[in-house]
Amino acid sequence: MKIDALVRDNVKNMSSYSSARDEHKNGYDENLIYLDANESPFDNGINRYPDNKHNDLKTVVSKIKNVGVNQVVFGNGTDEILDLIVRVFCDPNQDKIITLPPTYGMYDVIAKTNSVENIEIPLKSDFSIDRDKILSLKEYNTKVLFLCSPNNPTGNSFDINVLSGLIKDFKGVVVIDEAYIDFSSQKSLINLIDKYENLIITQTMSKAYGMAGIRLGMGFSNEKTISYINKIKPPYNVNILTKNKALEELKKVNAIKSNVNSVLNQRKKLISSLEKFDFVEKTYQSDANFILVKVDNADLRYNQLLKKGIVVRNRTNQYLCQNCLRITLGTKDENKILIKTLNEL
Ligand SMILES: *Cc1c(COP(=O)(O)O)cnc(C)c1O
Repeated sequence: MKIDALVRDNVKNMSSYSSARDEHKNGYDENLIYLDANESPFDNGINRYPDNKHNDLKTVVSKIKNVGVNQVVFGNGTDEILDLIVRVFCDPNQDKIITLPPTYGMYDVIAKTNSVENIEIPLKSDFSIDRDKILSLKEYNTKVLFLCSPNNPTGNSFDINVLSGLIKDFKGVVVIDEAYIDFSSQKSLINLIDKYENLIITQTMSKAYGMAGIRLGMGFSNEKTISYINKIKPPYNVNILTKNKALEELKKVNAIKSNVNSVLNQRKKLISSLEKFDFVEKTYQSDANFILVKVDNADLRYNQLLKKGIVVRNRTNQYLCQNCLRITLGTKDENKILIKTLNEL
């Protein structure tokens, strides 16, 4: 597959914004006097524009993820990268994306924002992918297939053979959203970006890395696809505060790992505690930092918990999720309070 054939003509033909700093050299050199970008000259640590190529962040993240520095793109959250992907490949009112509900709500919002139709191919009742239905679609202009694995809100990872089969057989771009991959028993498919030109992997600093507040998402793909995304991205989409904080936090590898392990421990415990309540009909197997739980009456249980100061996510209106609550794993103490509170209902 040739990725160029899928990229919108306007994106192929345009040139990207050329910033003041781009025009003279890469990066910022303290020995130079900068009179080129209409910034304030008074140093307070943030008076200069950030590096629009995110070079130091790329160096660190590409090492952690074991990919090339030019196979990474950063966004103001993954949400920005997902939006950029749709805008690189999908002409408004013409091209389409495919999503597999129940899944992350932003794919649909991004499609609608861009006047791109979202073809929904629901998961099967066991939350597995309806592979044949996806591949039998006769629409020639379905450009992007969004697969979320582990999936939000169901919590399961998809079969690795089904995922790699779809990357191979789907005639468009396949985005695998791995926001929860660090909690999964399954391995990331990030190493496949060298093998398949149509594959984009997204990950985030918002979940396992504990940095939802700084808004930093990551996209990984082949250099050409990454360069198309870079071409249309707002040049200064990752700010200096975010970059510095990320670099600082990414040094704490052990703390991040131990937090993930704590969540995994808590997940096992919470699932077995939840299953003892008679208003819990089912807990679903989870590969993420949340548990989907089917209860007798989701609206009732949601409101009861809220009254007692605990906020969970009511997913009862989602496809296949009738009477389901999605419960994020908290600290050990928070989860204890949750169980104690459920006992009082
Ligand atoms: C939380 C989440 C993200 C992360 O989005 P950010 O914009 O990086 O915070 C992406 N995809 C899914 C499925 C998520 O649940």
